[in-house]
Amino acid sequence: MKVFKFGGASVKDAEGVRNLVNIFKAVKDQDTLIVVSAMGKTTNALEKIIEVYFKNKKDTSLGISLLKEFHLEIIKNLFQGKNIDCETELNKLFKELQEFLKSNKSPDYSFVYDQVVSFGELLSTIIIHHFMKFKKIDSFWLDARKCIKTDDYYRSADLNWEFTQKNILEQVEKRSLIITQGFIGSNSNHFTTTLGREGSDYSAAIFAYALNAESVTIWKDVPGVLNSDPRYFQNTKLLNQISYREAIELAFYGASVIHPKTIQPLQQKEIPLYVKSFENPKGKGTLVSKEKKLEPNIPCYIVKMDQVLLRLSSIDFSFIVEENISYIFGLLHEYQMPVELIQNSAISFSVCLNNKYKRLEELVLVLRSRFNVHITKNVDLYTIRHFDHTASQFIRKIGKPILLEQRTQETAQFII
Ligand code: ADP
Ligand code: ASP
Ligand code: MG
Repeated sequence: MKVFKFGGASVKDAEGVRNLVNIFKAVKDQDTLIVVSAMGKTTNALEKIIEVYFKNKKDTSLGISLLKEFHLEIIKNLFQGKNIDCETELNKLFKELQEFLKSNKSPDYSFVYDQVVSFGELLSTIIIHHFMKFKKIDSFWLDARKCIKTDDYYRSADLNWEFTQKNILEQVEKRSLIITQGFIGSNSNHFTTTLGREGSDYSAAIFAYALNAESVTIWKDVPGVLNSDPRYFQNTKLLNQISYREAIELAFYGASVIHPKTIQPLQQKEIPLYVKSFENPKGKGTLVSKEKKLEPNIPCYIVKMDQVLLRLSSIDFSFIVEENISYIFGLLHEYQMPVELIQNSAISFSVCLNNKYKRLEELVLVLRSRFNVHITKNVDLYTIRHFDHTASQFIRKIGKPILLEQRTQETAQFII
């Protein structure tokens, strides 16, 4: 079996759905499971609906009707008119969403979030399934929540591998073309959970692992894994092949083309991962597999913008050692501050943070009771793998002061 994954950008409109079917027809040579994300920016739109819901319950109707219109427009274009079956199922989903919001009594933001955002993937896969039917392709629509079993950690649920593997094998058995959702799963009480934003790549890897798939292909709006993100860097180059290890490192440092959790299950079973362009499906793309040497062997650049640099020093000139450091890390965990980089000396400790949950002020207030705290907001963290002379020229050319620098054998990081 092969696993394909199509992200939001690839199915942002009717043309994207037609393209997905054409790619499938062109490359199909055996059984395939297709994992699909929500269409275009649907997840962001659903996030907005949740925000509004928690502020003023009445206001969600506008957001919902805009989202409905967006999907109905795609159907109209795809089927050149009406497709009663598809529209009926779509209407049913929107009704379910409205019913949920009307009857929900839980004040738990994360719980409500997962029950609502999951509709994006349900909608996209229903449309694609019906379009396949329209094109005389026999596909089976699988509710991923029947397979992907997780704990109760809403918005970033952890997998129960044992149940998930068993369910996948049962559901997929003897079916040759399956359309299912990325990103979503369910817990032991059958409530919907999600695997974290951009988690559909990970879903594809989970299905592939359970099925011992021959390969996974994730179809992107770029030619493959490049040596840097084309949104921020010029003259990007395609990496023809990389090892699982390299892919994990790149994803970990922030190369958002692959979700960081995707590689590990594939690496365990040595399932090759292809990253290819849905705009140019015949292109070679990038092959991620075991012990492949980085080719071409060039520096890879990753930037994380808008980070916060905290410099802590002891008030009484005492050393910053194990006890202080464990206290600091305890607070960072408590205040949900992802740590991007650390550096310490005898009496000072620097940490680069992502103020994702906007809790910096609270954290700093607590830290100030024990340390002098110096904050620099809005810094950029550059990570360069396979640092060389051209990379050092690149950093110099940015022309801004380097606030902190750190190097290991293969990776150099700069806070600028
Ligand atoms: P999906 O449609 O699956 O959600 P994403 O938008 O998450 O796809 O991933 C594709 C994007 O990843 C590209 O448009 C690109 O801007 C970004 N990206 C970041 N780092 C890289 C990299 N090293 N190589 C290619 N693309 C990258
Ligand atoms: N639709 C979800 C998101 O936008 C999951 C994904 O696309 O991978 O985050
Ligand atoms: Mg995405």
